[in-house]
Amino acid sequence: MSRRLDDWDLADREGERPRSPVTPDVLVAAERILHERRAVLLGEVGALARQAADVGARPQYGKRIGDHTPDAVESRKNAIVEGALRARLAEVDAALERIARGSYGRCARCGRVIDAERLRALPWATACVICP
Ligand SMILES: [Zn+2]
Repeated sequence: MSRRLDDWDLADREGERPRSPVTPDVLVAAERILHERRAVLLGEVGALARQAADVGARPQYGKRIGDHTPDAVESRKNAIVEGALRARLAEVDAALERIARGSYGRCARCGRVIDAERLRALPWATACVICP
């Protein structure tokens, strides 16, 4: 008994991509958003690094304790923001890796297929809506 070939059978036959539980259109949209997101995040991390370099290059005139406090506060704030940006970047990279491996769209906790609407809104989501 034969059945009609779907897009994934064709992709498998052509050896384009490993099998993923989500449909090709969801995958293509997610990949595009993830790449855009990645570029934006990298730009923000770069801007922050340049800002940190400026603060570091600023002459230090103070003689008393606390004279450099604004700079210290600023660089600590930048470090926190940079940490958050890098965490988001790691989520985006992990999602792109799942696409490459063919495991994209499967809930990391229960193994169910993540809803396409959820993936459209949050392409880096690792869990379905039901899982906490
Ligand atoms: Zn789940």
